[in-house]
Amino acid sequence: MTYIRTISKKMIYDAIIDAIGQIYCQSTPETIAMINNALTIEEDDVAKDMLKAMLLNEELAAKEKLPICQDTGIVVVFADIGTAVKIENGSLYSIISQAVTDVWEKYYLRDSIALEPIRCFSSNPSKTKDTLQPVILHLSEIPGNKLELHISLKGGGAENCSTLKMFNPTATINEIEDFIVDTVVSSGGKPCPPVFVGIGIGGDFEQCAILAKRALMVPISPFEKKPEYKKMEERLLNQINQKGKGIQGFGGKTTALKVNILSEPCHIASLPVAINIDCHAHRCISITI
Ligand code: SF4
Repeated sequence: MTYIRTISKKMIYDAIIDAIGQIYCQSTPETIAMINNALTIEEDDVAKDMLKAMLLNEELAAKEKLPICQDTGIVVVFADIGTAVKIENGSLYSIISQAVTDVWEKYYLRDSIALEPIRCFSSNPSKTKDTLQPVILHLSEIPGNKLELHISLKGGGAENCSTLKMFNPTATINEIEDFIVDTVVSSGGKPCPPVFVGIGIGGDFEQCAILAKRALMVPISPFEKKPEYKKMEERLLNQINQKGKGIQGFGGKTTALKVNILSEPCHIASLPVAINIDCHAHRCISITI
């Protein structure tokens, strides 16, 4: 039997401060290993130099506790809340937003959020000292009495290259894969490759986009994957890398480090496909409270 568990505001606040304190200055260990691997297989001199510069940047940022990139990103949180969890003193959004506001000041991170998206509608579109930093929060229920938080600092350059298409349900697998490959390859250097490619297939318009974003995060334990999708991921990674856009779009063997697909059922008249791209900085962390 699972008993109701109360999680305090302080536990969540401290966990967010600690988590962002770990990732603003370094990519995931998996990312660093993949960049090292890309360097070992690379033959192009310019691409090799850029990969070495990325690894040096990783080393120096972690050592000096400096942001790994000037774009410290927008905070995206997938919160999987146990059905037996009660959050004490405040909404989850307000706790996360307060922690993000404070951790931004603690580490002098760049203020990257425009409060007014259409800039000419406001003379001062940025956050002020009196406003909490907005975050993107996606909530899901899971069994049990734990709170799982999957946190990402998402850069604008990579996010801007993301897209969604409502396919006809008769679309072939080749048409879908061509759309994905073309989207990543035509982005060139804008998303700061080598990139991570999150794909959402199915659901409706908005769920598909959320799946694509979630596909960038690890772990993805709540989601089961058919072998057909694993094979599709391998084909897509090969096709993208064979196009040779390479490191920062200047050529080379590795344009994408990883392709991850998540799928959900959809309406018989629909076949939405969304692509969300993350850059090589790939600042993600998963914590359980
Ligand atoms: S896309 Fe990533 S690496 Fe490029 S500027 Fe934005 S955060 Fe930095």
